[in-house]
Amino acid sequence: MKKVLFINPPVVCVNECQQGWYSFAHPTSILKLIAWQQQLGHQVAFIDCMDYAVNKITSLQFYKKMPLGTNNLNLYIDTFILGKPMSWLEQELQKQDPPEEVWISCHMTFNNELAHQVIRTVSTVFPEALLLLGGNYATLFPEHAQQKSKALIHGGLIPEAKTLFPDYSLFKAPLEYIVFQLDLGCENNCSHCVNSKLFKEVVRFDVQALVDDLQQKKELYGVIDFINIDPNVANYDLEDFLRACIEKKLEANLYFYGGIQPDKVTGGLAELMKEANVRGMTLPRELEKETNAQIQKSYGAEHFHRAVEIFQKNGFNLSDFHCSFPVGFKDDCLIDIASIIKEINDLGAIAEIAPVALIPGTAEYDRHSMLLKGKSLEELNWALWPALDTAEQIFAHAQLYNAAHGNRFKRPWDSDIFAP
Ligand code: SF4
Repeated sequence: MKKVLFINPPVVCVNECQQGWYSFAHPTSILKLIAWQQQLGHQVAFIDCMDYAVNKITSLQFYKKMPLGTNNLNLYIDTFILGKPMSWLEQELQKQDPPEEVWISCHMTFNNELAHQVIRTVSTVFPEALLLLGGNYATLFPEHAQQKSKALIHGGLIPEAKTLFPDYSLFKAPLEYIVFQLDLGCENNCSHCVNSKLFKEVVRFDVQALVDDLQQKKELYGVIDFINIDPNVANYDLEDFLRACIEKKLEANLYFYGGIQPDKVTGGLAELMKEANVRGMTLPRELEKETNAQIQKSYGAEHFHRAVEIFQKNGFNLSDFHCSFPVGFKDDCLIDIASIIKEINDLGAIAEIAPVALIPGTAEYDRHSMLLKGKSLEELNWALWPALDTAEQIFAHAQLYNAAHGNRFKRPWDSDIFAP
């Protein structure tokens, strides 16, 4: 038996808009690996540096100033750490018996620097431990990850653990909901998305066993809200899953915030969703036809409108429908964006304005590469509007972002920075 210590690093947060965006960021992959290592009989510990209270005004700690917009603008904005600082981590590490192995995961590529800080902190406390770095960042940028960390890099999912269910027994944050996985990956090829690069083939879970697992978690933790953030479940096992929830009388509230592909919405699916008690979802609105075609979407606004009609016919309240559309491209049409926000608000739904994370290796990164010149992975954080190259554009996007959220943010992208 060996001791394996898992660490979930904190994340970078530019402002309260990005803080809210980190909703439902449970460390599902780590919780699956914990399940696996426990099954193998190893001693497992978990240090979670993340703060899940994303809707409360928590005391974010100052991280550093980072460039806002393209580098030639010379604009900088304060950024923060959401989660625990390295000093806290060091104290937590001191409380541990030395582990043989320490596994660290980094999901968003723009959070990699904090994962490296975690690794450096662990190395000083446990110089003998084997360090292993995994997650989307290590999968997409193994050389970058290896050079910066000197850790062992694991790309992709671990076959033995990929379809295990997350083990929440070591998860200490308040459990208001539980995150579950149904289908990982997506075979579409939207030009800004890395999902098709992360998963060579879609990973599908055993639907019956999954519903049994949710039933057990419901009883064990008293949780009735189950959240799925997989990229495209409507393309795969959603109907089977809903049928199983109905047959097994799960009687929970289900939410699908990863995105229900609108052209897959049928009357039959909507009926199943209603009966299985689906309360909320992300239903992509996408952009207008020409822009949508440019980013290679296989579905568009017309499918969204038809899906909305179907959901309305089936008696859905749209107040927890997040209707997403990507922004932050160099050629955004702000008038279109404003009218999309109004259209969604008029439906009584949520205008989910979604700034793109431009990631090297995607067609969209290439299309913006001149503007992104000189940016590190960390500086490609979507909340830094990395491809916008005038202060006016950033200001307009900030205003639209806030408008989409009912102007509830006080000073997103602090307006002082736009002063001449
Ligand atoms: S449909 Fe969604 S998950 Fe699939 S490639 Fe497009 S953006 Fe990515």
